[in-house]
Amino acid sequence: MMQLEKDLTQQQVKFADIEQHLNYELQKQLDKVENKNLVLKKDIVDLKREIDHLTGKLENSQADITQKTKAYSRQLGLLQDKCQAQQQHLAQRFQQLSLFIDKSDSIDSDQIRNLALKLVAEIREMDQKDVCVVCVVEKTNCVLLPCRHHVTCTKCASRLNTCPFCRTCIQDRISTFE
Ligand SMILES: [Zn+2]
Ligand SMILES: [Zn+2]
Repeated sequence: MMQLEKDLTQQQVKFADIEQHLNYELQKQLDKVENKNLVLKKDIVDLKREIDHLTGKLENSQADITQKTKAYSRQLGLLQDKCQAQQQHLAQRFQQLSLFIDKSDSIDSDQIRNLALKLVAEIREMDQKDVCVVCVVEKTNCVLLPCRHHVTCTKCASRLNTCPFCRTCIQDRISTFE
């Protein structure tokens, strides 16, 4: 009987040891999980802050785009009006020029040339600075030598003997590219 009690006590001590050990391991695992939880919570807070930040940014961009779109369409309207007015003005000018040429038999070529140059200058001022002064259709893509004026297209330049701007005798023509 004494031996049995002794064995039992020994067993109880052993179990207590095992229990203590298990409790220790369990606590360790719990701590680990708790730590992971804290990290995750921090990540979630960070993400939420990031989302708020991005949402704010997006709202600002949208407001900005709306504002810009309004400004652009207003600008476009103004430009369209301006363009229309310029076209009307130009049409009038052409009419004046043709009437002037029709009516005057004794008109000298300098007068016509000056009027034409004035007209061309007006066209070029209307945001068409790269248009050929001779045909007023093609883009300016030729440099005349030796005066180095860049005012005509290659097609027109090939038919000219003198520069339409300064009347210097053309010795060579160089094509240019955009
Ligand atoms: Zn031309
Ligand atoms: Zn020239």
